[in-house]
Amino acid sequence: MTAASITKPPATTTAAATTSARLGMMLTDLRLPTIKRLAGELCARSDIEGWPGHRLLEALLEHEINEREARRTDRHRNESNLSPDKRLSSFDFSAVPSVSKAQVMALTQGTEWIDRGANVLLFGPPGVGKSHLVSALGHALIDAGRRVLFTRCSDLVQRLQAARRDLRLPQELAKLDRFDLLILDDLSYVRRDQAETSVLFELISERYERKSLAITANTPFSQWGEVFVEPAMTLAAVDRLVHHSTILEMNVESYRRRAAQAVQVSPARKARSTT
Ligand code: ADP
Ligand code: MG
Repeated sequence: MTAASITKPPATTTAAATTSARLGMMLTDLRLPTIKRLAGELCARSDIEGWPGHRLLEALLEHEINEREARRTDRHRNESNLSPDKRLSSFDFSAVPSVSKAQVMALTQGTEWIDRGANVLLFGPPGVGKSHLVSALGHALIDAGRRVLFTRCSDLVQRLQAARRDLRLPQELAKLDRFDLLILDDLSYVRRDQAETSVLFELISERYERKSLAITANTPFSQWGEVFVEPAMTLAAVDRLVHHSTILEMNVESYRRRAAQAVQVSPARKARSTT
């Protein structure tokens, strides 16, 4: 603490302090924490530099809006259940030539498809990067101000079945409505006994043309009969999903396996990886 700050303040400073205490209370009431934090500093600068009133007001509000947006994005990311490190920046597009980077970037930038409730379907064998890519898409949409939920398909089916048993399936489906994009990872792993109640079909029908789904699967549509109760339902589900959709085929060799092989063929890397 400096000597100046412990001497008795002049009357004008006391008046300013009272005003700022009142201001602080009003800003708390109005839930404007950023303005509250920055008001002292920006008002002082404004006094020294002789800012016109509107400039001070604009500066304060701009900070509040920016921080509010950042807090909202943080909240959306926390609730999304997305792996934090599965981002576009760490996705190597050259490993999947069948996927157009431009097409994926367009999905992250133009979110008009989200407004239409269109879908993204990612197909490919295990380890090719389906979960990584769909998560990266989710992160990008959160950055763009959207809400996303990542869930393993079989977990969600289980949750919806429990809701159906408790006669609250409509409420549970309605809760999912707050997410602009619902990611169902590994549709093919829904077990046959889980399929019996058709909750997945109801989810797909409920969101059709309203809210987007992103689905990853390691089996083609022709094998989705394993997941839905009967052929007519499989057909209807596939029909709704593909009606407005982008399909990304990732038919390459497992990224994991290739990475493991690369380590084996490079003795230097192997030496490093074993130390
Ligand atoms: P899938 O969901 O298709 O089984 P994952 O997305 O889980 O595959 O990918 C397996 C692992 O390999 C993950 O750690 C993922 O981050 C990584 N991976 C896969 N493809 C790529 C890629 N093209 N670029 C960077 N990492 C990748
Ligand atoms: Mg996966």
